[in-house]
Amino acid sequence: MKDGLLTVQRLQCSHCGGELPIMGRYVTFQCRPCFRRCIITDDGLAPLNVYRASLPEEREGTIVYLPFWVLRADVDALRKNISSVMTGLTEISQKIATMKIEADTSEPDWVLELGMNLMGADARGPAMIDSSNLSKRLPSRARLEHILGRMEAAGRWHIYIPAFWTTNTRAYLKIGHLMTRSQPAFHAERFDDPERPVMCVLGPEDAVRLVDYIFFATLPESIQTCSSFMKGIHLEVANPVLIEFPFLESSGSLESLVGGFHIQSQMVDTDPTE
Ligand SMILES: [Zn+2]
Repeated sequence: MKDGLLTVQRLQCSHCGGELPIMGRYVTFQCRPCFRRCIITDDGLAPLNVYRASLPEEREGTIVYLPFWVLRADVDALRKNISSVMTGLTEISQKIATMKIEADTSEPDWVLELGMNLMGADARGPAMIDSSNLSKRLPSRARLEHILGRMEAAGRWHIYIPAFWTTNTRAYLKIGHLMTRSQPAFHAERFDDPERPVMCVLGPEDAVRLVDYIFFATLPESIQTCSSFMKGIHLEVANPVLIEFPFLESSGSLESLVGGFHIQSQMVDTDPTE
């Protein structure tokens, strides 16, 4: 769909012309004759490489592989973005404080002549509230510096967007948040096994649209609640890569073998045949 026009495209391999199998809710396809994969994007079918992270260690039990879009964050751009938003908000905050002082010290002559006291507690109230509220809404610079420093020290910082099917929208936030927070080290290889469909329901453009949503969830609450600040923040990312990560399924829970966390398994639909 582009500019409100619905285009109909044949499900055909762009490499060998082979017909692609219908995949239901999944947006990734694999050509049977040539094994190449492709994905539905905003501009139609596009070739796709899928990677699979190796198991860090052998584990007993059922391993399920769940796909994530992994996007590299531009930390330099984030630092500039944060700095300009903070400068802007600090200026506004100072302006409000100055206006308050001017309001306090400059009573019009006619007010004085009439012996009125308009600058009593009630009249001064709103200006004081605005000023103190805005300064409270500015996140701590030390806190921001700590977060940026950690991202820079890591060398690279990735955002993990869950790409598997779930009816539970909270699961997107939670699992994406946990993977992003853990910034796991892993080894991944191209994955072309024709017997294993990739359970991906999310296109790369939609993954990019969800980046801020997931990134914001990883920030401390003291920053998340600074609404004027948060409104100005946007994380730039590059090249979404689709990677499947191993999870160990056991009695009601899924353990991320790469991310080192557990989630309840009913949050995720791990059955590709459904
Ligand atoms: Zn093909």
